[in-house]
Amino acid sequence: MTTRAWVGGTLPIVMALATTCATPVAASETVVIRAGRLIDGRGGEPLAPAAVRVQGARIAAVGERLETPAGARVIDLGAATLLPGLIDLHTHLSDREDVHWEDALTRTTPSQAALWGARNARVTLLAGFTTCRDMGPTWPYVDVDLRDAIAQGALPGPRLVVAGNYVSSTGGAGDARQFSLFVEVPLVRNLADGPDEVLKAVRTNLKHGADFIKILATGAVLSKGIEPGRQQYSDAEIQAAVEEARRWGRDVAAHAHGSAGIKAAIRAGVRTVDHGSYLDQESVALLRRSREAFYVPTLYTGVVIEASAHVPESEKERSRAVQATKGAAFKSALAAGLPIGFATDASVIPHGQNAREFAVRSGLGETPMAAIVSATSLNAEILRMGDRIGSVEVGKLADLVAVRDDPLADITALERVGFVMREGVVYRDELSR
Ligand SMILES: [Zn+2]
Repeated sequence: MTTRAWVGGTLPIVMALATTCATPVAASETVVIRAGRLIDGRGGEPLAPAAVRVQGARIAAVGERLETPAGARVIDLGAATLLPGLIDLHTHLSDREDVHWEDALTRTTPSQAALWGARNARVTLLAGFTTCRDMGPTWPYVDVDLRDAIAQGALPGPRLVVAGNYVSSTGGAGDARQFSLFVEVPLVRNLADGPDEVLKAVRTNLKHGADFIKILATGAVLSKGIEPGRQQYSDAEIQAAVEEARRWGRDVAAHAHGSAGIKAAIRAGVRTVDHGSYLDQESVALLRRSREAFYVPTLYTGVVIEASAHVPESEKERSRAVQATKGAAFKSALAAGLPIGFATDASVIPHGQNAREFAVRSGLGETPMAAIVSATSLNAEILRMGDRIGSVEVGKLADLVAVRDDPLADITALERVGFVMREGVVYRDELSR
C-alpha cells in the first residue's frame, strides 16, 4: 500500500500544491518542452528528438526541433519519452482503497469521501493520469463536486467525467444492504427496478450533474448478491437507461461480467462494456458490428483482490472464478482486432497504481504501442473528447507526461512517470535539467 507514504507528504505533492495554488496559467505564456522522443498517442512512429510548444493551456507546435520564441520558458527533459496524458476509463476516486464499499456506507461519511477523493485525485494525476472517467462513488454525487473542484482549480487532479450515482437493481451488484431486512441502512437511492424506475434514476443523475450513466448490468465480484456471470438488469431496463440517456445526449457505461448481460448491453446501445469478463465470440462479433460500443477490461484487479486484507473470502472466490475468463476474453478481443479501452477500477486497486494494468495486458499479448494508444487517443474517442485530448497535436489541450525509460521497450516504464503537465500547468517534474 502506498497510502502512508503519500499521506506523509513527498516532494511531488509539495510541488503539486505549490503549483495549483499559483495563479492559472496565462494564455500568453509560452513553454517549449524538449525530449528524446515523442509517442503522440496515435500509434505512428515516435518522433526523435522531439519538441512541443505549449501556449497557455494548448499545444501550439510539435516538431523535431522547434525554435524557442523570445521570452519562452524551456523545459528540457533530456532523453525522456514524452506522451499524451494518460486516461483511465474506470476509477472510483472518492472511494478508499482499504475500505470495502459496503462498510463505507455504515462507517464513513460523505465528507470523508470528499477529502480522500481529493487525496486520490492528486495521487492519480501525479501518476500521469490527466483524465479519468469516474464510475460512481459510494456516497452519491461526491464525484460531481470533486470534478467541479478540480475544474475550478481548488485542488490538483485529473479532469473528471463522472457518473454521479450508479444505477443498480435491488439484490444486485449495487445493493449494499447485507443486513437483516429490519435494519435501517444509509439511503443512497441508487436502486431502481423496472424501466420506469430506471428512467427516473437516469433523469435524477443527469439533473444532479452526472456526465454519463453507469448501470450494473450483471452481478459483481465485490458484492454479495447475484453472481458476476449472471445478467442482473433485464433487456428492457438496460434499454430504458440507454434511451433516456440518449435523449439527454449522454452515454451509458455498463458494468458487465457475464456474457448475457454483455450482449444485452451492446444490443441496447451502451457506450462501454466494463470488465467484460465472460466476453464470448458472439459478444466480440456484436462489438465489431456496433462500432459505437467498446470493451473496457480491468485486469489487474484480480491480483490486488487476492492480496487485500479487507476483501472477504467469499468475494475472493468470486474474483478467482472470473480471473481465468478475464484473460481469455482479453485475448479473444485482441485476436479479433477490437479496439480495447484502458481502465483499472482504481479503489479496487490502490489509487496511483493505475499504470500497472499495462503490464498485465502486455503479458496477455498486447503490444506496448497498442496499449499506449488505448490509454490515450482511443480512450479520448470513447469519451467523445478526441477533439481536445488523447494525442499530442496542435490545438489540443497540453496534457503531457514523460518517462525516463522507453515504454516501447518496457511498458512498465509508464509506472514511473516523472513529468506531468495538465492544460499547460506542470504538476510534477523530476526529469528536467
Ligand atoms: Zn468499478
